[in-house]
Amino acid sequence: MNIQEAKEILACANKIAVLTGAGMSTESGLPDFRSQEGIYNTLTTALTFHIAMFRIYPKRFYSVIGPFYGQCVNASPNAGHQALAQLERQGKHVEIATQNVDCLHQKAGSSIVHEIHGTIDTVSCRKCKKHFKASEYAEFFAAGKVPHCPDCGKVLKPDLTFFGENLPTEPMRRAKLAFLNADLVMVLGTSLRVSPANTLPGFRVEGTPLFIINRDPTPYDECADFVSHGQIGEVLPQLVE
Ligand SMILES: [Zn+2]
Repeated sequence: MNIQEAKEILACANKIAVLTGAGMSTESGLPDFRSQEGIYNTLTTALTFHIAMFRIYPKRFYSVIGPFYGQCVNASPNAGHQALAQLERQGKHVEIATQNVDCLHQKAGSSIVHEIHGTIDTVSCRKCKKHFKASEYAEFFAAGKVPHCPDCGKVLKPDLTFFGENLPTEPMRRAKLAFLNADLVMVLGTSLRVSPANTLPGFRVEGTPLFIINRDPTPYDECADFVSHGQIGEVLPQLVE
């Protein structure tokens, strides 16, 4: 299918389910956070992002994550994020399942975002379970200091999913429903190798069109209706305009 045909299918779609991965964020200049090529691999050890290490020595995590947090807070949505938000403004029902933790979809104006790997937007107390805006602790992050719960004094943990930790179940449940009910499925910026997000395209009803825009080939390319290995920020706006 060529880009003109894809554009016509998108124009007719009313319920669109989207899966986004690191490729979406790297186009905004963010480091690829939780993948084989990302920050994860540039660190001396993945233990920094392991929940067991966090429990023992949270300072290690905060001293490493500080610069990333600052980058995320200052990052802006790119043309790809904007194009997805534009679809919603056109009156379409758009649900985005994302592996990214940077809130750039929300910043662009998308209203239904299922954050499969959690978010950097909030931190929570592991004891009293209260959530707080991470921005209130920006100076702790920047200085590599450990923030503590104002109520009980225990260490606050970012609400992104660490290695060794279970993924939040509700975002994935909602994402599956979105893919099941969609009349168009789009996969953007992920090579579909990270479980369980990579199972989502399989939930679409047979015959539902599948679009993939990703730098590298994915296992779903062969059964997709439209495939581009170009930049999301260049290709997607052409489809949406
Ligand atoms: Zn607390």
